[in-house]
Parts: sequence; structure tokens; C-alpha cells
Amino acid sequence: MSKVALSFLAHPDDAEFLCAGTLARLADAGWNVHIATATPGDCGSATQDRWEISAVRTQEAARAAAMIGATYHCLDERDIFVVFDKPTLQKTIDLFRRVAPSLVFTHAPKDYMMDHEMASMLARAASFAYGIPNVSEVPRPAGAAVPHLYYCDPIEGLDPLGKLVEPTTVIDVSKAYPRKAAMLACHASQREWLRVHHGMDQYMEAMRRHAAERGRAIGVDYAEAFVQHRGHAYPHDDLLAKLFA
Ligand SMILES: [Zn+2]
Repeated sequence: MSKVALSFLAHPDDAEFLCAGTLARLADAGWNVHIATATPGDCGSATQDRWEISAVRTQEAARAAAMIGATYHCLDERDIFVVFDKPTLQKTIDLFRRVAPSLVFTHAPKDYMMDHEMASMLARAASFAYGIPNVSEVPRPAGAAVPHLYYCDPIEGLDPLGKLVEPTTVIDVSKAYPRKAAMLACHASQREWLRVHHGMDQYMEAMRRHAAERGRAIGVDYAEAFVQHRGHAYPHDDLLAKLFA
């Protein structure tokens, strides 16, 4: 099995909040790690226009990825307008073809905003499809198969109706936490934007609080929680638990 992990999430900084500790552990274990976002974060500013903020945020995301030796990709869709349609799915499949992941992380199927839910559907469909010979003009990587697929926590661990999501897999990221925090801190533009938009000046603190809450459940300082996709044709064995239990 190839050791290639892909985080496919909606926005720059989602990977840092949801799975960067686990990605850091995978990088430590010799995995080739890729961090992709559907958008460049073009609505993530109250003062800069969409082109200026996109340039800033993709650079922040690339810097964060580089901290764990990961490669950053952007599908270049638009904030609020990530949709599950034919062109976007084709772009997603083509990206999967180039990366050839054996392990994929995406958003929870139900989350607080629709960009996350659409990205989740795109990742689920592309995971299933990218190994099919006729599905893309990008050459089919040797050994392409349906990857292990994990849904990250929805934001704050809550589905849109406020119910706490029950994980299948909880990964101890205590030792990796300083790197996860340093990666999030790369997104300097967002600390300011969230303060203006949500009246919340606790960008770093919100992440720490949630990781500590997930950690408490397994008796460690910090953890990240996942739900494994176990539908027909997807691998059912809990690869993450086997790697890090
Ligand atoms: Zn997001």
C-alpha cells in the first residue's frame, strides 16, 4: 500500500483545525502528505477584496503545509459557492488522480456550513471514482484504488442540529499539538477576520479547547476525532487506529 495521505477540505485553515495533528503524525511515519482546499478563502476578509485575500490565504496555507513537509493544492472554487456538480467533481477527481491518495480526510457529511458538506460529498465521490480508468484525462496512477476515507469532526464536534458527533476513531495528537498550533498560527489573516465577523478573538483558543475535549475522552492532553466511511467498496479496516493505537 502506498503511503499517500490527502486532506480535502473546503477552506484554508480547515485542515489545521480538524486534522493537522494526525497529518503531522503521518508525516513523521514516512507518509507523503497533501493538503487541498476547495477555495482560496476569498471571502475571508472584511477589508481586502477577494483577489488580495486569496493571495494572502493561499500563501498562509502553503506555509502551514510546508511546516510538516506537506504539499498544498487549491481547487480554486469560491467561498460560499462550493457545489457538488459535474465540473467541480471532475476537478476533484483530476486532483485525486495526480495525488493518488491511499488515505483521505474530508469534512463531516453534516457540518455548520454548506461549503463543508459539498466538499465532503466531492471527496467521497472522488475517492470512489479516481481509480476508474475512463473517469479522467489525467493518467491513472499505478495501483489506484478506493482509499481509506475518514470524516473529520464537524466544527466544535456538533452537527447542524447541535448534536455531538460520536467518533469511530480518536487519535492522540498531544506530541504533535505544538506543530498543529504553529500551522494554525500561519493563518494570521483569519485571527483578525474572525474577531471582526464572529466577535471572537480566540482563534487559537477555540482549537485548543476542542482538541482538549476530544483528548479527555481517551485520557490524553489533545486528540483529533474521526468517523470512518464504511460504505460498500471503501476499505473497512480502521487504518488510523492500526497506525497510531
Ligand atoms: Zn471551512
